Amino acid sequence: MSLTDVWRAARPPVAGLHLDSAACSRQSYTAMEAAARHACHEAEVGGYVAAEAASPVIDAGRAAFAAMTGMAAADVVFTTGSRHALDLLLSRWPAAGRTLACLPGEYGPNLAVMAARGFVRRMLPVDATGRLVLDEAAAALAADPPDLVHLTPVGSHRGLVQPLAGMARICAEAGVPLVVDAAQALGQIDCAVGGPAVHAVYSSSRKWLAGPRGVGALAVRPELSDRMQPGPEAGDVNVAAQVGFSAALGEYLAAGPADVRAGLAEVGSLSRRALAGLPGWRVVEPVDEPSAITTLTPIDGADPVAVRSGLIVEHRIVTTAAGVERAPLELTAPVLRISPHVDTTAEDLAVFARALAAVTAID
Ligand SMILES: *Cc1c(COP(=O)(O)O)cnc(C)c1O
Repeated sequence: MSLTDVWRAARPPVAGLHLDSAACSRQSYTAMEAAARHACHEAEVGGYVAAEAASPVIDAGRAAFAAMTGMAAADVVFTTGSRHALDLLLSRWPAAGRTLACLPGEYGPNLAVMAARGFVRRMLPVDATGRLVLDEAAAALAADPPDLVHLTPVGSHRGLVQPLAGMARICAEAGVPLVVDAAQALGQIDCAVGGPAVHAVYSSSRKWLAGPRGVGALAVRPELSDRMQPGPEAGDVNVAAQVGFSAALGEYLAAGPADVRAGLAEVGSLSRRALAGLPGWRVVEPVDEPSAITTLTPIDGADPVAVRSGLIVEHRIVTTAAGVERAPLELTAPVLRISPHVDTTAEDLAVFARALAAVTAID
């Protein structure tokens, strides 16, 4: 069976077309059943006893997350998502120094967390497409090193892939810790390429890894965690969600990360080819950008919010309208985002292109 067929057979049939994995992928039967079985076990033996029994599964999940991010399993904790992970990290950041460098395309809610935690930000240099310019960044870091660099290798508003390995190399040279938001990157690109310069990396379960909602993970190297300030005790956790996430991580590894990544890159370029030249829209990403996120900018006044709802109501096609708040320092107008997973075919994309043309004509 092809990867497309494997991915498709592993989950319920889709009602319409699901082109929204960057928001929330479709879970597999295995992940859903693992979480449901755990909830059942809680009812049978008690929540705390069930949690102990689930610890091998949870440990396997932490090991899988560590393998995918180039970290150690012992340094991984579960969170309720990416934003929670960043807040946890910055709220306990070592007392000295709160200057941070990031890209203009940084995720808006991350910028809000950084500001709320008292971090002063500066921008790393990018080209006209928003891609990091490494040699200029290296010079800036050497001239005046910030206390950390925060990199989001794939953003929410654009399917551009930032050079994670290159960023890690120049951070290592400048002696600056690198923190990576892998919410969109994990599962789409190889995130285990940063080496020891990556002091922390975090991601969400529900996006490209296709786990349940409301759970994520954070890995912090001991060099950083040993220096972090104490925080409040963690509250209760959704163990069933962690079990489901662990199952999804296991399935992703079993499918072959390199194959899934190649499949996603291919579906990304198929998407951009299918949508090139569609009246009223311009594809933002280079055709062969190795990600499955494709964004469309309206050029004749179409409203992405109205188009998104028209697609759902009239065609049962799920996409995202991404407003400027997703990347307030870079995005100047809302875009329509599609993010198909590896179960999406060229035929599906042709159906989408026709539906988009129909909805745009009405709008
Ligand atoms: C979705 C997303 C987040 C936030 O993830 P949550 O799990 O919803 O907190 C952070 N960064 C990026 C780039 C995202 O796409």
